[in-house]
Amino acid sequence: MRDTLVLNASFEPLSTVTLNRAVVLVLQDKAVVEQAHPELRMRGAEVDIPVPRVIRLCRYVKVPFRRQAPWSRRGVLVRDRHRCAYCGRRATTVDHVVPKSRGGQDSWLNTVASCAEDNHRKADRTPEQAGMPLLRQPFEPTPQDAMLLTLGAEEFTALPAWLARGAA
Ligand SMILES: [Zn+2]
Repeated sequence: MRDTLVLNASFEPLSTVTLNRAVVLVLQDKAVVEQAHPELRMRGAEVDIPVPRVIRLCRYVKVPFRRQAPWSRRGVLVRDRHRCAYCGRRATTVDHVVPKSRGGQDSWLNTVASCAEDNHRKADRTPEQAGMPLLRQPFEPTPQDAMLLTLGAEEFTALPAWLARGAA
């Protein structure tokens, strides 16, 4: 029950976000609670709100169905689930597969999450030159992933199946 469903201002389902993110959106008056857990409330010094299960954005968000997600370091880490593309351990940096010094771009397909050690070890080389094969190929986020990034999600989470059907 960690995820909270986000509805557009028009009530159409957009995505899910973590509970923390949902609460922040409500506290910042960017969203209202549409459905809450029946028994639970979050209480703090200045806060007393129901634990949201579904929130609705106060402003209509145009869903960029055909638009590419803008590249960002944070986006690469989220896409790769903070896992190093070379060893699978926790990643905190972003590595350019083809190094920038060799013409590599800041793009989704040329960047992967990397642990600091591997990033340092690979240095100014391609994976082939460094003998460090990629565990998985980088990919372009889908438009829905882009929306999740916009909402500050920490990972790409698909809509629950029953909602995806309704939203299609
Ligand atoms: Zn690594």
